[in-house]
Amino acid sequence: MVTIYGDKDADLSLLKDRRVGTIGYGNQGRAQALNMRDSGIHVTVGNMNDNYREQAIADGFDVVAFAEASRICDVLLILIPDEVQPGVFETEIAPNLEAGNVLCFASGYNVHYQLIGPGEDIDVIMVAPRMIGKAVRDLYTDGHGYPCLVGVEHDASGKALEIALGIAKAIGATRLGAFASSFREETLIDLFAEQMLWPGINKLATVYFEKLVENGCDPDIVATELHMSGEFLEIAKAMITEGFFKQLKLHSHTSQYGQLSRADGMYTPDLAKHVDDVIEEIASGAFAREWTKEQENGLPELEKLWKKALAHPISQAEERLDELRKAVARAHL
Ligand code: NDP
Repeated sequence: MVTIYGDKDADLSLLKDRRVGTIGYGNQGRAQALNMRDSGIHVTVGNMNDNYREQAIADGFDVVAFAEASRICDVLLILIPDEVQPGVFETEIAPNLEAGNVLCFASGYNVHYQLIGPGEDIDVIMVAPRMIGKAVRDLYTDGHGYPCLVGVEHDASGKALEIALGIAKAIGATRLGAFASSFREETLIDLFAEQMLWPGINKLATVYFEKLVENGCDPDIVATELHMSGEFLEIAKAMITEGFFKQLKLHSHTSQYGQLSRADGMYTPDLAKHVDDVIEEIASGAFAREWTKEQENGLPELEKLWKKALAHPISQAEERLDELRKAVARAHL
């Protein structure tokens, strides 16, 4: 049974007498910095000299360069994209760290795959919201919480978990719950969702579209059935309010029978083998090595994959259905 920490388990005072800084002011950086400030923590923003910097200044923060933030702050939240973290860490952050500093990551990736390795005298912790940055801020200002995962990779001070929980409270996550986890677990659940769950849904959805069009159905009607109607949003909501399986009771009996009787058959031995390969590549670090190489090569494969995705007839149907899209967005979002 997982341990879930709430507001009562977390103490902000561990942060109040320290200098807290963010490295980055993007999706998570801005939301977390604003939430921490509203929780009474003094926050310095570390950013490069560009648009995000202007935004941070407009929001009333002291903004300094990454290296300066690393020098003057005791607790650093690393909130720049995962793929740029190792380079920034090596050149800007590591040379300015001191014994007793705390590095807090919002994802397990770089530490788990040893792309970043802070020294023995540094606390290395994770506070990973299960929420996009905009919602991290909106939920906080509306008085709600959201789940996050907390983990400790290295506890130099003996207080690493308490500091992680203090941060989780300051950003508003413990209002709902901070789950005790680890860098490895966060990396696996994140990458496996990205490489098995979402591509599985993505592939089945495109096959659904292609087969029905091949069978004479109108692509705009199929796209509307697939996602443009907004029905899937209502189903996703019902998965939360009713339950993952129990929401099936909101569907017709024919639908219930079709869904429950056909699900297992989808998981063919070939698919099972593919799924095993995907998790193995994640767990062994093979995917991380492939991704690092792709970045070093200038992302040629990613560019090809994007071109292919955007050329799919689903995207063309969406363009034709733009008016419907706006009406659905007004009704459901
Ligand atoms: P963003 O893409 O929003 O980060 C933008 C910030 O990174 C800006 O401050 C930007 O500064 C800086 N930045 C971008 N490129 C570079 C570069 N090449 N060198 C230096 N700085 C750069 O990141 P996210 O907020 O999405 O992600 C931050 C962390 O949060 C990641 O670890 C991610 O895994 C994690 N996370 C993200 C979630 C999300 O929903 N987005 C959810 C949970 C965790 P500049 O002004 O210079 O462009």
